This record gives sequence, C-alpha cells and structure tokens, in this order.
Amino acid sequence: MAKKEKKIVKVSDDSKDTNSYTLDENRRIIKAKERKDAKGDAKKYRIGAIVCWLLAIVMEVIAILRLTGRIDLFSKMSLMGFVILFVILDLIFFVPGSLLWKKANHIDPASEKDKTKFWIWNNLGTILSILAFLPVIIFIFTNKDLDGKQKGIAGAIAIIALLIAGVASYDFNPVSAEQLAHAEKEVKAVSPSGKVYWAKHSKKYHVDKDCPAFSRSEEVYEGSVAAAYENNLTDPCRRCIPELKEDEEKE
Ligand SMILES: [Zn+2]
Repeated sequence: MAKKEKKIVKVSDDSKDTNSYTLDENRRIIKAKERKDAKGDAKKYRIGAIVCWLLAIVMEVIAILRLTGRIDLFSKMSLMGFVILFVILDLIFFVPGSLLWKKANHIDPASEKDKTKFWIWNNLGTILSILAFLPVIIFIFTNKDLDGKQKGIAGAIAIIALLIAGVASYDFNPVSAEQLAHAEKEVKAVSPSGKVYWAKHSKKYHVDKDCPAFSRSEEVYEGSVAAAYENNLTDPCRRCIPELKEDEEKE
C-alpha cells in the first residue's frame, strides 16, 4: 500500500497560487494553474505584445535613419555593421511580442464567426512582421553607400530575420472561443466537475485520470479545459471523452 501524503509543488514560477498535489496509489496529481481573470490577463499580455512590436519597429526606424544618412548614431561603426545590429535588435524585440500575442489568444480565444477577422487576429504578428522588416530590406537594397557585397550580407540577414519573425508569429494551432466552449461541454457531459487531466508529454487531455494513456506517467496535471488549452492541449482523448455532435448540444 502506498502511503498517502500531501505536499506543495510549484508548477510555474509566474504563478502566485499554490499548486498542491495529492499522492495517488502511484501517481501524483498536480493542480494546474487556473486563471481567475482570463480576459484581464490576456489584456496584459496583449499590451506587452504591442509594446514589444513597437520597440521592434523603433529599431527598424533607427536602421533606416542611418541608412538614409539622417542620423549619425555610433558613427565609428560601419554602416553595414550598424544595420545588421539594429535588424537583429528588431528581431529580438519582435519575436517575444508575437509569443505574448499568441499566448493571449490561447488564454482568451477570439470568436471564429468571422473567419477573416479570426485569421488576422491570430496571425497579427505575421502580418506585422512585414511592416517590421520589409521597409529596412528595401532601404538596404536601394542604398547608395553600401556596395553589392554589403547589400547582399545585410539584406540576407534582414530577409532571414523577416522569415524567422513571420514563422514564429504564425499560430499553427489557433483556438476559438467556440472551440473552447464546445470542448467544455463535451467534458461536462462525462464529468460534471469539468476537470481534465494530462501528463507532461500528453498531446491530448483526458477526463479519466486513470486513462490507459497515463500508464507510464508518474505525474498527472489536473485543471479546467481552459488550463489544458493554455498548455496547448486542444485535442480530447476519445477513449475517455465521447464526441458530442453539434446537434446534440442544446443552446
Ligand atoms: Zn483518455
């Protein structure tokens, strides 16, 4: 017989809540972080994203100002070196902004009723990456003070930066408010508590904490569907969560 005891385990550092777990027969259940104010938290992440993106564009503008001879910042530095430095700074500010934006959209998903709006909202970072890198690319290739080789090097770095920013900003697994609501209904249909479970390397969430999928897991996280979604788990395990057809839903 396994001895039962209680301990406190920190799940994530940015959490102010205590994450307690109980010891099961052979499996620890860790309570995932739950947000009390998802919309408010998402708003903070979105503001952070916009600040990062603005700083990125400021870096681009500085590079363009030096390229066009309007400023003489770090005059000892070569023009090519200066432009490369500020393109890299542009990227360093840009990517975290997009990651914050995507996180906000997973905490507080948008409605997918308007597909175009939904796509633009989720991939705003990818759209803005064009604004944050394409102008400087054009200024590099049309510059009169850089020779062909310098244009090639600085231009290639800026194009690579644009590609990195564009791909990093794209949401490959966007979630909608409707999808989350539907997932919550499916879970409630089998488990009134609305709690789901997942392990560290799970690709799906479960309602049964003894689901065969956990046979090798020592730690299982417990949380709401929203918490699972925030951890990028958006697929239900069909062994323990039967599919709820749209017409079975009562609205
Ligand atoms: Zn399962």
